Amino acid sequence: MPPRLLSGKDLSEKILASLKPKVKKLDPRLVIVQVGDEPASTTYIRKKKEACESIGMRCDLMKLKASTSFKVLIKTIRALNDDADVTGYIIQLPLPGALHENEPQLFREIDPYKDVDGFTAYNLGKMFISSEFEHLPPATPAGIIELLSDAGIKIEGKCAVVVGQSNIVGKPIATMLLNRNATVIQCHKFTENLAQYTKQADILIVAVGKPNLITSEMVKKGVVVIDVGINTVKGKIVGDVDYDEVSKFAGAITPVPGGVGPLTVACLLRNCVRAKERQIDRKS
Ligand code: NAP
Repeated sequence: MPPRLLSGKDLSEKILASLKPKVKKLDPRLVIVQVGDEPASTTYIRKKKEACESIGMRCDLMKLKASTSFKVLIKTIRALNDDADVTGYIIQLPLPGALHENEPQLFREIDPYKDVDGFTAYNLGKMFISSEFEHLPPATPAGIIELLSDAGIKIEGKCAVVVGQSNIVGKPIATMLLNRNATVIQCHKFTENLAQYTKQADILIVAVGKPNLITSEMVKKGVVVIDVGINTVKGKIVGDVDYDEVSKFAGAITPVPGGVGPLTVACLLRNCVRAKERQIDRKS
């Protein structure tokens, strides 16, 4: 039997539609800061802008030269913090050149109440405490949780294996699964014999950026596979999982594209609405 297809596209449309009345009432404004001209970033930004347009949310792109200095970027971040008409903003990653090395110092400057990417230590720390405090979680892990929950896939008591330990996907999704009482195994590039762990997974989440990293010999029958990876192979977008082969064993699987990607965008916009609500609560 073919696996159940977990479409992020349909669910993202549902999430976006549910935001519309709040956007109309609260009129939040998202600002996207792009440093340089990385083509993949330009594509992601276009998708974010289109999603904003589809629900009537204000969204402005602030384009800075690739040669922008650390000092100028810090000044830009502080100005966004001080601008009362900016609800939330994101610094589109990856940053070019030396700025990439300075990401922790840059994130430290972001007002946590405007941190709609959920990358600051404050918002990550809150998420660490419990699911109750996941107010502005990173968008991709939040999208994965939505996908599992919408599909009625039980997390509690299940063995969840996360491959990848980045600060924006791997680590936060492992924490969010732990908050929901999964038994979590986190793997990364120093993990020896990856298959030994992936074979145990009831839920397998892969966020690495390596096509065909997960093959059919590495999974057990009935596994739920969430493929976060985005890779271009011979001009085609593919994930980290050998989709055709792993599908023969999986109980459910996300397509790439059309799986986690659209949910990342929807959850970012949801964070912007939540940021506005929390800013209003804070003032009252
Ligand atoms: P990242 O920062 O490059 O992290 C990749 C992680 O994979 C690291 O933790 C790395 O381990 C681990 N890794 C590398 N080689 C490995 C191997 N052979 N076996 C096991 N683990 C290995 O990437 P990211 O930002 O999390 O993104 C991961 C992928 O997801 C990329 O393809 C990216 O484009 C995609 N992505 C998609 C979305 C979406 O919306 N669909 C959103 C964000 C990212 P170490 O830490 O030990 O180096």
